[in-house]
Amino acid sequence: MSLTDTTVELPPVGAGRPATLETRDVSAWFGDHKVLERVSLTMPPHRVTALIGPSGCGKSTYLRILNRMHELVSSAALAGEVLLDGEDIYDRGRRITHARRQIGMVFQKPNPFPAMSIYDNVLSGLKLNGIRAARADKDALVEECLTKAGLWKEVRDRLRQPGGALSGGQQQRLCIARSLAVRPRVLLMDEPCSALDPTSTRRVEQTIGELMHEVTIVIVTHNMQQAQRVSQQCAFFLAEHGTPGAVVEHGPTEAMFDSPQDERTSDYVHGRF
Ligand code: ADP
Ligand code: MG
Repeated sequence: MSLTDTTVELPPVGAGRPATLETRDVSAWFGDHKVLERVSLTMPPHRVTALIGPSGCGKSTYLRILNRMHELVSSAALAGEVLLDGEDIYDRGRRITHARRQIGMVFQKPNPFPAMSIYDNVLSGLKLNGIRAARADKDALVEECLTKAGLWKEVRDRLRQPGGALSGGQQQRLCIARSLAVRPRVLLMDEPCSALDPTSTRRVEQTIGELMHEVTIVIVTHNMQQAQRVSQQCAFFLAEHGTPGAVVEHGPTEAMFDSPQDERTSDYVHGRF
């Protein structure tokens, strides 16, 4: 299947208003290995939701499920529902691109196309998702996305330079800009600051804070201070003794850190794991 089997026009400014993303009883397998058990979470607009928990408890798998990437692994299976404003993104009548155009993703390691210009890197977000924009709209879109990603002022005079010439933190913000090119309604971020120094991390966190009213944000982080700084709600995943990953506790971030209901949450957020 081609990723660009249908091409659509760029949605207008404002079309990508933030959406509610919800999973109901989502379980996941790789072959016989069950890795997630009945995860039900609601990720509302105007909130950043942080997913926390030890390595291997299924956070990245869950994030990929939210973006319909799970089904690209041949051994992968899924049960339950993933709803974007109530609409099942796994609806068999819909193409994968339908979900991708509304749900962007940013990964741990900044991965712009290093030899491609900053300008074309931003626009590559369109091409990958089968969206066409009029030539006249492209300059404005590049400025819009780089501004939202908090990078415009730093690169406005060097848009033709290669993406690989930027610092690590700038490259990550370029990746955020690229993911915004489709004017998505949800942005998924898998440990977006793990490869960054503290200054760049703060800059990306600032961008997250500014973006949260444009796009619903879900972020996986191992950094408890970061979870407290950027998120309003939090879900703690745990895979105990070989059982599949499951949500032990979720709720407002402040409550999860100040008065966790479960002893395992308390141990984890206080670094006793
Ligand atoms: P986390 O992001 O919380 O560290 P992951 O979602 O990466 O956890 O992994 C959850 C479990 O799923 C682990 O046991 C991992 O080995 C397994 N897993 C992840 N991706 C694959 C894959 N493509 N094929 C088989 N097993 C996988
Ligand atoms: Mg992971």
